[in-house]
Amino acid sequence: MGGTRYMGGRLCILDVLQRKETEAMTSPAPTDVIDNPPPEVVPVCDRAKADGTPCGEPGVFTYFWEWGEKGTCCVQHQFLQNQIAAQIGRGVQYAPLVMPGPAPITRDERTRLKGEVYALEEELKDVQQRGLEMYRENATLARQAQAATVRGRETELQLKDALADLERAKADLEARDAEHGVLVEELERLRTLAAFMENETEPSRVD
Ligand SMILES: [Zn+2]
Repeated sequence: MGGTRYMGGRLCILDVLQRKETEAMTSPAPTDVIDNPPPEVVPVCDRAKADGTPCGEPGVFTYFWEWGEKGTCCVQHQFLQNQIAAQIGRGVQYAPLVMPGPAPITRDERTRLKGEVYALEEELKDVQQRGLEMYRENATLARQAQAATVRGRETELQLKDALADLERAKADLEARDAEHGVLVEELERLRTLAAFMENETEPSRVD
């Protein structure tokens, strides 16, 4: 807090704000202004209560008296100062202090968030990569399955062909068997006829 000045024991909040503004203008990231704010930066009413002790309520306004005095006050002291201003016929102006609403992102948080974003991006890349690998594996498996199906069909067709060949061979064999039977019968008939003819001619020749 080297740049913070104290005026009559009071923290000069404007100086702090001004310094923050300068930092914000020179800093590439305006949200980096407050980096773990030291406790003395938390604005507190610098007015005194009726008994003379410091008010200490949370500061809501920066006040500016027309003679140059400035500081931080609470809502109640704004009201009281307005009464005084009216009584003494001097002007006082107020500027609302930046409320400690949503805390600005600190450098640490920014670094952490950047880290998280980076980690998530890496995870996403990883998931995409795994998805791509799975897609490729699927495609390979599909091709293999297709090839196996084709081979299976070929085998089936070959088996059908082999069975058909076997059927044809059996039919051929049966046909030949039948032919053979007919030939045997014909041969028997011819033999009988030959024997009959022989018997018919022999006695006549003898006669
Ligand atoms: Zn006060």
